[in-house]
Amino acid sequence: MSSQRTFSIIKPDAMRKGHAGAILAEIDKAGFRIVAIKKLFLSKSQAEGFYYVHAHRPFFDSLTTFMSSGTIIALALEKENAIADLRKLMGATNPANAEEGTIRKKFAGSIEENAIHGSDAEDTAAFEIGYFFAGLELV
Ligand code: ATP
Ligand code: MG
Repeated sequence: MSSQRTFSIIKPDAMRKGHAGAILAEIDKAGFRIVAIKKLFLSKSQAEGFYYVHAHRPFFDSLTTFMSSGTIIALALEKENAIADLRKLMGATNPANAEEGTIRKKFAGSIEENAIHGSDAEDTAAFEIGYFFAGLELV
């Protein structure tokens, strides 16, 4: 497979606990190239726009409050098979089900405060990269 881009967020829980550096090291070690990176603070409405696909889920209000509760690091990443490989590196949504060695197994506290986001498909990756980065920032 040729090179593919995906989008990731180091979530507020991991930032607060001081795990950002360790998570970036895992991403680097797994062979991802950083195409764009920035630290920022999402407003509640910006978090709602990002997670709009979950708008009708019962956890939507809590999730978007959490995602706007502190700084995050947004990342556009590139490698072969980036989308599936990042999901594998992250581990299951619920850290209780995450495999040994995955980022969520190591760093996530709960199903909501689960340390990292990764795009789940090519169309969502394209939307998510465009939500956070301008074309000129992708290098
Ligand atoms: P992400 O999209 O953040 O990479 P994911 O694809 O593993 O995570 P989704 O089903 O897309 O999981 O859920 C998005 C996020 O919503 C989860 O990462 C988690 O923070 C939160 N979440 C999912 N399910 C629940 C739940 N049952 N209760 C509380 N929060 C949840
Ligand atoms: Mg998801």
